Amino acid sequence: MAYVITELCTRDGSCVEVCPVECIVPGDRNDATWAAQFYIDPDTCIDCGACVPECPVDAIFPEDEVPQEYEANIGLNASFFTEGPGYWAFDLEEQRDRAA
Ligand code: SF4
Repeated sequence: MAYVITELCTRDGSCVEVCPVECIVPGDRNDATWAAQFYIDPDTCIDCGACVPECPVDAIFPEDEVPQEYEANIGLNASFFTEGPGYWAFDLEEQRDRAA
């Protein structure tokens, strides 16, 4: 199993700071295909749950608790790493959207 970031994500980026295995990656804000959110690599996530309370909009769920309307996001998180950019050299401060 793994945790999943749903399309509720607002690119806050706090989750990235707490993940012990660095498996959360933003879609490049300049890449229209992936810019909408951040993604969790399901093959690396260790199910620690540390990212969940950090999310200001409750966008992160364990895979088996993803609400039905967001189930497509399970495959989307995986696809980001298998077919999309995956682990690219992002600058978190450039990629995050946080209230000042
Ligand atoms: Fe990272 Fe833990 Fe969240 Fe998985 S559950 S993405 S390992 S912080």
